[in-house]
Amino acid sequence: MIAVEEALARILAAVQPGPREVVHVTAAHRRVLAEDLAARRSQPPLAVSAMDGFAVRAEDADRAGCVLQLVGEVPAGRMFGRPLAAGEAVRIFTGAPLPEGADAILIQEHARLEGRQVVVERPVERGRYVRPAGLDFERGWVGLRAGTRLDARALGLAAAMGHAWLSVRRRPRVAILSTGDELVPPGETPGGTAIVATNGLTFAALVEAWGGEPVDLGIAPDDPSKLRAALLEARAVDFIVTSGGASVGSYDLVQATAADLGLELAFWKVAMRPGKPLIFGRLQGIPFLGFPGNPVSSTVCAIVFLRAAIRTALGLPAELPYSEAVLDRDLGANDERQDFLRANFVAGAEGGWRVRPAPLQDSSMFATLARADVLLVRPPFDPPRQAGERVRILELERVLAG
Ligand code: AMP
Ligand code: MG
Repeated sequence: MIAVEEALARILAAVQPGPREVVHVTAAHRRVLAEDLAARRSQPPLAVSAMDGFAVRAEDADRAGCVLQLVGEVPAGRMFGRPLAAGEAVRIFTGAPLPEGADAILIQEHARLEGRQVVVERPVERGRYVRPAGLDFERGWVGLRAGTRLDARALGLAAAMGHAWLSVRRRPRVAILSTGDELVPPGETPGGTAIVATNGLTFAALVEAWGGEPVDLGIAPDDPSKLRAALLEARAVDFIVTSGGASVGSYDLVQATAADLGLELAFWKVAMRPGKPLIFGRLQGIPFLGFPGNPVSSTVCAIVFLRAAIRTALGLPAELPYSEAVLDRDLGANDERQDFLRANFVAGAEGGWRVRPAPLQDSSMFATLARADVLLVRPPFDPPRQAGERVRILELERVLAG
């Protein structure tokens, strides 16, 4: 049995940032930039109006009562064809470029139109309601760094900076195989002793959320030759993940079958609860993660190890977003395994939130995980803890989002 940190270090040592590919900016949501992105243009490209009103020379409109000649109009997306002469005004709309010579906007609320004459009701100063060229950003400014996950805002910025094609990390492909005679695919009605194979579905959703591409290998029964055939389907992938059959029972065939196919075992069993019987190695050069079948165990293993592996392949930092919270219940001393307790936020008596561990933590109880807000993480040999003490937590919503 090795420590969680040791297991993680060995897994990550087997992973490098993956190759790049080029995608169109309209198809790049949630992809990870492989290179810095500099603005190819300034925003706005020219000085533009921030309001609807009249483009003027400030010196012509420095008092109430000044009268200007209206000589035309300029909407957004057009140019006024000639320079503005002394005493002239041009009707202008938000986002439209200022005519040459204009240096202020007299907003329509501060002017009165009398035929072709604009009467100033409030004086303007130079630069008022003018957005200078490059106000948002200048050409050449490095707006996004390599390793940025393109969320809605970053995507908008990339497009605004004038990029059509982006160099991103290829999404790591993760083969997912569920094992067990008792399993039926999600959506089917299990008869008798069967249960629904939920792990593959959960893993696929996690892989997608983390930026990878799931490759579903379905369900293999607990039969060496069928398991072998299923494992051989894992081609052209970056990771192989299995669920079930990783323990010491007579039907736990994953390790032996993978060994027949040449698995180079790095370790088996990690000092964690849930998730102890984790297998890691390389199968025909591909990092291989054999997760336990219990849905809570395998999901926690995915959160701790698979997420880090996918993020490393994407060139993202692998650390989990640990934070702290106040404990709501006393906890006894922990043993030699790192503990991941399902827990929920509850309102504390003094205001603020506390975390309350679920009373039962059996690793088959997926409903408690599905409804938990956090995993309360206790190091090996953590001494007894009392309500009111601060403890380390992982917020599941954050962890599952990326
Ligand atoms: P195993 O690790 O194969 O001994 O499985 C441990 C427990 O997890 C058993 O109760 C299995 O029925 C259950 N299990 C195994 N695979 C899955 C799966 N894909 N989805 C849900 N439960 C599973
Ligand atoms: Mg099994």
